[in-house]
Amino acid sequence: MSTGFKNSKMWNVTKIPLLLPTSAPSDRLLQPLWDYVRFNHYTLVSSPFFPVLLAFSGYFSFSIPFTFLDLLGEKVPCFHHYKIQKERRPTMQMMMRSFGRAIYNHVVFVVPAVLLNSYIMPMPPLPSLAPTVLELFSGWLGTMLLFDTQYFIWHMVHHKNRQLYKWVHAIHHDYMAPFSWSTQHLSPIELMTVGFWSNLDPIMLKCYPLTTWFTTVVSIWMSVEDHIGYDLPWALNHLVPFGLYGGAPAHDMHHQKPNNNYAPFFSHWDRIFGTATAVDRETQKYLKLKEQ
Ligand SMILES: [Zn+2]
Ligand SMILES: [Zn+2]
Repeated sequence: MSTGFKNSKMWNVTKIPLLLPTSAPSDRLLQPLWDYVRFNHYTLVSSPFFPVLLAFSGYFSFSIPFTFLDLLGEKVPCFHHYKIQKERRPTMQMMMRSFGRAIYNHVVFVVPAVLLNSYIMPMPPLPSLAPTVLELFSGWLGTMLLFDTQYFIWHMVHHKNRQLYKWVHAIHHDYMAPFSWSTQHLSPIELMTVGFWSNLDPIMLKCYPLTTWFTTVVSIWMSVEDHIGYDLPWALNHLVPFGLYGGAPAHDMHHQKPNNNYAPFFSHWDRIFGTATAVDRETQKYLKLKEQ
């Protein structure tokens, strides 16, 4: 997938030359964007902290609008109509608790891990060639499918094993009704595991850096969308056909019935293993009961 890394022996760079970005003759659609990023923001994007910055700022900015929606509740009826568990609304205190946990996990665990990783495996120089649009989307989809599989297995194991659940995953189930900030309401071990795969998967699939960053932003959005607690009509689960994507209704149901819907994004693994809850029927029945 990545021709730009062919000659650099990607993670075996013993001596990284001080590279100034160079332009490459290319008619690829994303080349102007890639050149702009490299020539104008080289220091930022070549920093080992850039992926973390991208992920954390994505989590922060995607969660902000739902803070207002959750706090206003019925006062915004056009959105409140789509709230899955209408009687369970997060408080400001709950949101601050989850956000505080995310900051703590990043400062105490993620930052030292990035420092250590950048010492052991320095970042390879950025390639001069941009990915094609097809390479970008296939890299994103491949990474998402791989991550979905890894998390499905990890998630199911952590629900089946009492000790693993208690010490590693239970924190994420503090709330039966998820809300945007609770996306990163995670134990340090869960966050580090998820972060490890998020870093490793694009490397294994030889993705371009631009593909990796795109995947990071989109996957953070997908994770936040899983937890918003609203079944919005334009959400990914309504855009992807044949119920292939679970999204917020599926993951909301996982927080209500933790032995179902283990996959974070797609629905195929839960269907294969018989752990998929009939989201629509269950949710609708649940909503009707609550509205009576
Ligand atoms: Zn969750
Ligand atoms: Zn769970």
